[in-house]
Amino acid sequence: MSSNSPPSIEVTEPPRRFPSGYADGVRPSHHVNDSKTRFTNPWPWPSFRIQTFSQWVSFFFATTLRSPNIPQDVKSSIPIQIPTWGTESGKEDSAKATWLGHACYLVELPTPPGAARGVRVIFDPVFSNRCSPFQWLGPARYTDTPCKVEEIPAVDAIVLSHNHYDHTDIPTLRALLANPSSSAQVFVALNNANYLSKALRTPLSRIHELDWWDERLLRVSLPSKHANGAAVDAEVRLSCTPSQHVSGRTTSDRWHALWAAWVVDDLRSHKKVYFAGDTGYRTVRDGEDEDKVPVCPAFAEAGERFGGFDLALLPIGAYQPRAVMSNMHASPADAVRIFKDLKAKKALAMHWGTWVLTTEPVLEPPALLRKECEKAGVSPDEFLIPALGETFLF
Ligand SMILES: [Zn+2]
Repeated sequence: MSSNSPPSIEVTEPPRRFPSGYADGVRPSHHVNDSKTRFTNPWPWPSFRIQTFSQWVSFFFATTLRSPNIPQDVKSSIPIQIPTWGTESGKEDSAKATWLGHACYLVELPTPPGAARGVRVIFDPVFSNRCSPFQWLGPARYTDTPCKVEEIPAVDAIVLSHNHYDHTDIPTLRALLANPSSSAQVFVALNNANYLSKALRTPLSRIHELDWWDERLLRVSLPSKHANGAAVDAEVRLSCTPSQHVSGRTTSDRWHALWAAWVVDDLRSHKKVYFAGDTGYRTVRDGEDEDKVPVCPAFAEAGERFGGFDLALLPIGAYQPRAVMSNMHASPADAVRIFKDLKAKKALAMHWGTWVLTTEPVLEPPALLRKECEKAGVSPDEFLIPALGETFLF
């Protein structure tokens, strides 16, 4: 195989490690019907409570009339660099994670001996200016993307947390799939594949739909580091795990497609990465004490089942007003609790610094994260806040 031809990628379903409701003939508690077209946040105590209509109305007025100002120096306050992707020599044994804005990370697993690179997984890639159905309406970026979508190296897996516009962006996905050196496979939670296949004009066979606790094995034949050398096989396992969120791309399809967090496990180096996507941790109403309301048990369960993680990619922004946003977006305090629940060694921040989606000041999430980490005894080099385009080695 020449080093320019795209790797061949084989996707298989491994023996089930985690129980699923359907395996016992019982409908799982996050499925609302038997046709897998409606879902819910299932935990038996109310870490998730739905907003009332009047809360949405006041949120609408808060975001349209009292939307936070974007500080004039925002671009110098949020550092940005051109990604190096961590490809400098001598770093082959490290895994690499590069923040590409909002919830997008490119993770490259360690390079197997003889290969030119490791397996690459990109999470929630969105490079459009606006996260909206229209490029003339909706929130526009207040920071730049650290590179162009065409400059992203060939990826092997594109993993999507859910179908909201700030996480699933058709133009970006089309550009990634059009890369001639990539044979990227797309991984989504239930009831996202049909829509994506049509929108991306990509066969369904390239889009893999998983339920919570389903897994897939990817065998990727990586290019050799030697010209005309033989391809080097690498194997990674992708696991779809629960998160606390909602979905919907139009006004009529709320709850119709499932949302998820994901785990990538490199079967050679055993590096394990957790990607939370978009998630809430608890629902806090006005006047309620954050520390006294029930929390979502999904993260402690994932920490237990996977035996902790080398790295967790965790959302820290879009959390105000708490009464409306807390059920589906983690605050910095929530993110620190999730980090501990997951038993992760390190965390990197995401889901901030890109679009104004909610009412907290745009520079508040990292400042608040530092305070919350200090309160919880988490050091700044355990829960890091990368620059846009920065690569973290682990
Ligand atoms: Zn989001």
